[in-house]
Amino acid sequence: MSARVDWNSIESKWINRWEEQRIFEADPDSGNGRKKYFVTVAYPYPNSPQHIGHGRTYTLADVHARYMRMKGYNVLFPMGFHYTGTPILGMSRRVAAGDAELMETFHNVYKLSDDVIATFVEPVKIASFFHHEIKRGMKEMGYSIDWRREFTTIDKMYSKFISWQFRTLRKKGLIVQGSHPVGWCPRDQNPVSQHDTIGDVEPDFNEYTLIKFRSGDKEDDNNITLPAATLRPETLFGVTNMWVNPDVDYVLAQVDGEKWIISKEAARKLEFLNHKVEIIKTVKGSEMIGWNATNPVNNASVPIYPASFVEADSGTGIVMSVPAHAPYDYQSLEDLKADKKLQQKFHISVDDDDNNNNVRPIKIIESEYYTSDIPAAEAIKQVDASGPNNRERLEKATSDLYSREFYKGIMMHNTGRFAGMAVAVAKNEVKQDVMQSGMADTMYELVNKPVKCRCGAECVVKLLNDQWFLNYSNKEWKRLTHECVSKMDIVPRDIRQEFDYVIDWLRERACARKSGLGTKLPWDEEWTIESLSDSVIYMAYYIIAKYVNSKAISGDDDDNKNNITDTFFDYVLLGTGSADQVAKECRIPAYTVQQIRKEFSYFYPVDSRHSGRDLVPNHLTFFIFNHVAIFDKKNWPRQIVVNGSVLMEGKKMSKSLGNIIPLRAAIREHGADTIRLAMLVSAEILQDADFSFDTVRGIRLKLLGIFEMAEKYCSSSSLQQQQATEQQLEDKWLVSRLQRTIAETSASMDRLRIREAIHHTLYSLDQDLQWYLKRAAAKRRENVSGTLAQFLSVQVRMLAPFAPFTAEEVWERMGNRQSITIACWPVADEGKIDIVAEESEFLISSLLADLQNIIKVTKMTPTKIVIYSSASWKTQVYKAILANILEGRINFGEIMKRLIANPETAKAKTDPKLAQKMMEDILSAPLEARSRRLKLTEFNEVTAIYDAQSLLSAEINKAQIVIYSEQDPTKYDPKSRAKSARPFKPAIYIE
Ligand SMILES: [Zn+2]
Repeated sequence: MSARVDWNSIESKWINRWEEQRIFEADPDSGNGRKKYFVTVAYPYPNSPQHIGHGRTYTLADVHARYMRMKGYNVLFPMGFHYTGTPILGMSRRVAAGDAELMETFHNVYKLSDDVIATFVEPVKIASFFHHEIKRGMKEMGYSIDWRREFTTIDKMYSKFISWQFRTLRKKGLIVQGSHPVGWCPRDQNPVSQHDTIGDVEPDFNEYTLIKFRSGDKEDDNNITLPAATLRPETLFGVTNMWVNPDVDYVLAQVDGEKWIISKEAARKLEFLNHKVEIIKTVKGSEMIGWNATNPVNNASVPIYPASFVEADSGTGIVMSVPAHAPYDYQSLEDLKADKKLQQKFHISVDDDDNNNNVRPIKIIESEYYTSDIPAAEAIKQVDASGPNNRERLEKATSDLYSREFYKGIMMHNTGRFAGMAVAVAKNEVKQDVMQSGMADTMYELVNKPVKCRCGAECVVKLLNDQWFLNYSNKEWKRLTHECVSKMDIVPRDIRQEFDYVIDWLRERACARKSGLGTKLPWDEEWTIESLSDSVIYMAYYIIAKYVNSKAISGDDDDNKNNITDTFFDYVLLGTGSADQVAKECRIPAYTVQQIRKEFSYFYPVDSRHSGRDLVPNHLTFFIFNHVAIFDKKNWPRQIVVNGSVLMEGKKMSKSLGNIIPLRAAIREHGADTIRLAMLVSAEILQDADFSFDTVRGIRLKLLGIFEMAEKYCSSSSLQQQQATEQQLEDKWLVSRLQRTIAETSASMDRLRIREAIHHTLYSLDQDLQWYLKRAAAKRRENVSGTLAQFLSVQVRMLAPFAPFTAEEVWERMGNRQSITIACWPVADEGKIDIVAEESEFLISSLLADLQNIIKVTKMTPTKIVIYSSASWKTQVYKAILANILEGRINFGEIMKRLIANPETAKAKTDPKLAQKMMEDILSAPLEARSRRLKLTEFNEVTAIYDAQSLLSAEINKAQIVIYSEQDPTKYDPKSRAKSARPFKPAIYIE
């Protein structure tokens, strides 16, 4: 590695220069200025320093911003910091308690001093420490951010903005008060969502119907309720027995005035669902075996049997058995029938014989998929028995059967008034029936448990009464949100359906918490607006933040400057009311009000929103929902870009693997440009990127090569000496190739195919450059600076979005006075495309490869190489065959007939084998070569090969290179090789 390139000082030089020149500060252009482009990325949550894994999303957004800036747009790329929520609070509590694991992370991963850690008992100190740490890292990464618009979500003006947002939503009827289930931390007494849980999992839950079977021991017959939780209330008609786990401790409890037997775990869950539960005594599962229970829909008496698959923490711990339609029930019944010992133990008798003890599955649903009397048995048989273990097999059979019967099943004659009804309909009808008659209740259960709160407690489902919810169930709201998505550009495209799915699936969402940092709910100050609800339209706030930071306006009511009310936001963000009215009411000069409104109208809507894929089901969808609710259609967001995560050397990053590398440490060690490129080069946008140190080293060398080339050929002094380079074949070729690479790279960038764009810029161009340098060196040329300067000027500009520091430095060393940040993105010049030069270099490189191959195979040490180019009539034939192939003919006989029919190509019949070989040449040539060759009119192979004589000789043992045309009567051709020459495929003779 060259000691001459001091990366760290180059980085700090440019960070300072950009700041001095205010190059990333974007204000509206006046008059017919540039088009605007507003790029935003999800603001960070400052409870830890950023690591390599965080860097990808921000780097992608920065690359996008820098690209659009070079394309001539007035780009606004701002940043804020999200302080809202409970995690910082939880963290400060853990600091106060001296939590060992957290201390270990602070010391060993984040390398924090004890003095700093001691301040963390105050939550805001944590946020502000990491806020500044992250901000420094973003500057060091070279992010082109307009820092005048920075804010935190606990700033006073921001709180006014969020209060306005919430009052606006409430006026539109989109915030409702009601009782809805939420994920809940019993320790914090707070709702939890993705941001609040360990591992960032969103608590997901199902709604079960609790069917109240009646039972009891001999003394108080049928006084006891045995509630069974089910997702399929319509199968109630097929219940043959009940299952309890004999090894589980159940409790007899007073639930809302009734006597229930349920598992202990279920008793606790029911309390969170607002049932009044008083435990009377423990009842062993084994005690209940042999009891009978009464089915509330038909008063059938069914026995209670033992089953080990029943879990205390699933539902109520009591299961209704529907063996005809539930594979687990069927299998357990079969197992029990075969297990005479178990039957004896519990003094029960159940078998397959036709007697009283026979429990027969009762089929109640018909569908085209299952024709036998026991659909569950069929479903089990249909799952490959050799594959998964028994449990997985039953799971698969259960889900197959469930969905098939749900969509295609019909209720049979033995289901009372529901007979003939589709299962999808009957499910709700049966549920309503039993609910209304008091024979059932509902119960919510976490699907993805255990879900742990960041405080460590296990989360439950809580039925919150009189809580405030964003009504994402509202049909009209959903419709508008779908409409917005349908008009939006979603990158990559495959993600679009995920958005549509989430929009349909979202329901009421608790929007406030009892604790945490943030804005109070304006009309109920007991509650604080939670973090996924105060982060949905803040992109609009970047416009306002600039004026707060410059002190033109103030959100602080105590300083007696302004009195910002909703009128201000209504006018600035929605255009309702008048500037004069706002000026009067809020005590702001009318001019300032108008200026803010104008700036908002200029930069809004958001042109591109970048985020990680994990935010699709929450933040990004809420972002769309809230925009369509609050803003006019013309201010709806235009694009969402979603990226995958980052792996470290192929592995997931985690504290336990010790492979989390803080971003700032990585920059110090490897340089910002290297880190930026290494994050982006390994994968296209949605795939997981793999960050590896081999890649880091390889990229470092590539960047160094660019520096060295700039110094050697393109420093401003050497360029002055070399005004213009004489255009030789390889110059024309390099310039032509450059135009093609510009076009390809621009196309990749426009579709944000970042990996591809880096590949063109860093690798394809380098291959071309190496060939050019080899050609020039063989000719002992010294006058290459002109072409190389042209080349480098394009390469560094295309590199600038990815490696801004290297690009700036090289750009300046080349003699440019203005920052590359505002240089133009290169535009391909069609006029510089030179197909003769392209064909020449293609011919020479293939010829060289052929020669090297012959020498390798024959092990000769050649002193003389004779090359024969083909006779001109062959070119006529070649082009005729090519034209035929491009027109879609591939039958050789047919092509031959057409060649012979034409006097200009009739000579083909003298050597049909040669014509056949030409056809094979064409079919194996690259597509671009085929179309190029048809266009070539003045291509001369001999001229091209003559030009490369020096290169061929230098590469092949300094041998003498002699070139003849096949038609040359004086040619040296001792082995009669010349006649086998074909167009673009010269014949070779070696001595
Ligand atoms: Zn908690």
